Amino acid sequence: MYLLNDLQRKHRIKKLLRWAMQSEFYRQKYSGYEEALQKGELQRLPYTTKEEIDFDKLATVDKERFVMVGRSSGTVDKPTFLFFTPEDMKNTIEVWTVRCWQFVGLTNKDVFLNLTRYDNLHISGYITQAGSIKLGMTVIPYGAGGDPDQILSLIKRFGVTSFVFRPSHVMRLGMFYRSQGVEPSELGIQKIIVTGEWMSKEFRRMLEELWGADVYVLYTMTEAMGDVGSECKEKDGTHIFDDYFLIELRELSLPEKSVTHTLENAGEIILTTMRENMPFIRYRTGDLGMEISKKCACGSKHQRIHLLGRVNEVLRVGSLAVTPLDIQTLLLRIPGMSGLYTLTVDGKEASKLHLEIETLEAEHTEHKKQEIRDLLLENLEVESSLIGDIDIKLVPLSFSLNYNKQKYFAI
Ligand SMILES: [Zn+2]
Repeated sequence: MYLLNDLQRKHRIKKLLRWAMQSEFYRQKYSGYEEALQKGELQRLPYTTKEEIDFDKLATVDKERFVMVGRSSGTVDKPTFLFFTPEDMKNTIEVWTVRCWQFVGLTNKDVFLNLTRYDNLHISGYITQAGSIKLGMTVIPYGAGGDPDQILSLIKRFGVTSFVFRPSHVMRLGMFYRSQGVEPSELGIQKIIVTGEWMSKEFRRMLEELWGADVYVLYTMTEAMGDVGSECKEKDGTHIFDDYFLIELRELSLPEKSVTHTLENAGEIILTTMRENMPFIRYRTGDLGMEISKKCACGSKHQRIHLLGRVNEVLRVGSLAVTPLDIQTLLLRIPGMSGLYTLTVDGKEASKLHLEIETLEAEHTEHKKQEIRDLLLENLEVESSLIGDIDIKLVPLSFSLNYNKQKYFAI
């Protein structure tokens, strides 16, 4: 799956590979691939992975051209850094924010509460702010995490119409206000942008009802220096910004269906960033995507994919795949569920399952646990003894807005 026409693609790939070979990392990695490099035959080049990329050897331009340092994902012990040139900054602001906001219909009339991170070399806060200002929006630079009471007073004081946050945080924040007697849908929020976690359609519907707002998903990746794609007002798949990124789907031997949807044409998203500085070439993102061949009703020519979660979080159960979003979809069929949960699997054979579910109810009865067991048994092709043994714990929804991502599968 390539998203540029052939001629354009060939020309740009050749240029990209010439840039890439300025870096020590790619010179070593692609030694012996001279012919493919010269002909721009991207598909003959091996994939790159997060584990092997040496960020210190990835630079392709003189360091005098760098104007900003940002943190890429890395690990706590070994953080990795991206270096931005002025052109990177311009493109990142333009694509990450301005274009995304145009896709979801934000305008200079919006008052925007920026709940992305500014701290500890995370540059999402800065980029989001710069793009929003460029669009003429009024920005309130709050940052991630934070105090729900403070956030509420800012929403009321400035008449906030939109904010960006993780989907699980949007749920926690809204339910916290409701528990305090404040109805989120009466706060005047019109558009909520979510990123950083996956969510099912059913979870989105809950958020939209809770807040009385439209919820849109961005596909953001620090390695890509920003946003790879965005939903549009149709909310039917993510448009990939194919003038900056090439996407391929790496075939995986997945079952044809998961518990709640088809996996036809699904694969691991392979990303190539079309930039001069620190390019990523055939980078295995670990994200699971599914191609959408139909044109979008919004009229955009940017092709779409459905984002389905992480490749390493797909469990195979019988003839079906089970993803975190499947379990979320199933759980939300039962009243009183928040959609947030953690499933812990002991051992590769899934010999013992622990399911901790955050609920919206004060009382947690055995009857409810049995209802959940029955639902799982009905929908998963597993031995009934496995579900019979499943250890289900119901806990009240936490209102904590910490930095940790919602972990659905702990495998
Ligand atoms: Zn569209």
